[in-house]
Amino acid sequence: MHPLPPGSTIGILGGGQLGRMLAMAAARLGLKCHIYSDHRGPAFDVAAATTLGEFDDFDRVTRFAETVDVVTYEFENVPLDTARAALNACPVRPGVKALEVAQDRLTEKRFVAGLGLPVAPFAPVDDDAGLANAAAVLGLPAILKTSRLGYDGKGQVRLRNGDDISTARAAIGFRPAILESVVAFEFEVSVLVVRAPGGETRFYDIPLNTHQNGILHSSAVPSPLPTRVRARALEMASHIATALDYVGVLGVEMFYVGNNAAEPLIVNEMAPRVHNSGHWTIDACLVSQFENHIRAVADWPLGPTERHSDAVMTNLIGDDVDTWSKLAAAADLGLHLYGKNDPRPGRKMGHVTRIGPKTS
Ligand code: AMP
Repeated sequence: MHPLPPGSTIGILGGGQLGRMLAMAAARLGLKCHIYSDHRGPAFDVAAATTLGEFDDFDRVTRFAETVDVVTYEFENVPLDTARAALNACPVRPGVKALEVAQDRLTEKRFVAGLGLPVAPFAPVDDDAGLANAAAVLGLPAILKTSRLGYDGKGQVRLRNGDDISTARAAIGFRPAILESVVAFEFEVSVLVVRAPGGETRFYDIPLNTHQNGILHSSAVPSPLPTRVRARALEMASHIATALDYVGVLGVEMFYVGNNAAEPLIVNEMAPRVHNSGHWTIDACLVSQFENHIRAVADWPLGPTERHSDAVMTNLIGDDVDTWSKLAAAADLGLHLYGKNDPRPGRKMGHVTRIGPKTS
């Protein structure tokens, strides 16, 4: 182990709220952050240094990486060549492989299935004939998702019997896609795993996640996931993290299809970064997902991941944030505002975590 001493600088590609919370967690350990982003996001307000630069300005990215001790990222669509440009100057954690796999749904599905883990039946779709063929093989209804750059339910459309193939492809901009069978799940969960460079792996408790309009609405711990299934979820996430030789926090989203199924969990997708469904760890754990990500990329000992409280995290989306003064007055809420000015519909403006005594 070669831990970066306090006073070292962690470079973060991306300047959103995840970068903001990473920088705040790093500060608690006496580490500094240098944010690199193509726009002035919420992380710029809390970092020791910032660079406003294009992600495809590779010389600039290399020069940025020369000024820091390690580079990490807070969004999964960092171009691979950007990560490689940083790698010319210092370690990049998690690595390029995690980005490569997570950026493309088809690559991701094949990777997870290749590890022998269950995913929804899927087929690649490049044109109308391909979609007709995939629909015939998988059956309908099914979900058509763009392979790249889809998030928060964007870039996907449900295809039902009788729907027009071309119209469905038009709805996702005729982009390369996958068709995926609809999973009849009971609820959705995510595993938040943190892995150190030496391979040590720890997990947070597994939240139950609810979505509204394709965007995460809330994450609650404890979830009603049976103990046996919980163990299987951790095993699956650990398998993925190890196969990627991953360093940092990885979020793996899964569908719970019931305890009677041979495989009670289906992997939906992974995020090679700290994850929205882990925000409750700031208020309900001694060491949050953000701090443990920083600890991992800085090669520090990982911190405890146990929960000291029950918690429900709820996102403040768009004008939900207007209720901030009422939320600030609540006795059992941790209020987190991201410092964004413009509360557009669908925009994550902050979150609250309601905590209560630990029940299990
Ligand atoms: P994704 O962008 O893949 O995370 O999808 C966003 C949300 O759409 C998920 O959190 C689920 O609620 C829903 N969803 C995605 N894929 C499927 C599927 N194959 N079956 C059922 N629901 C899905």
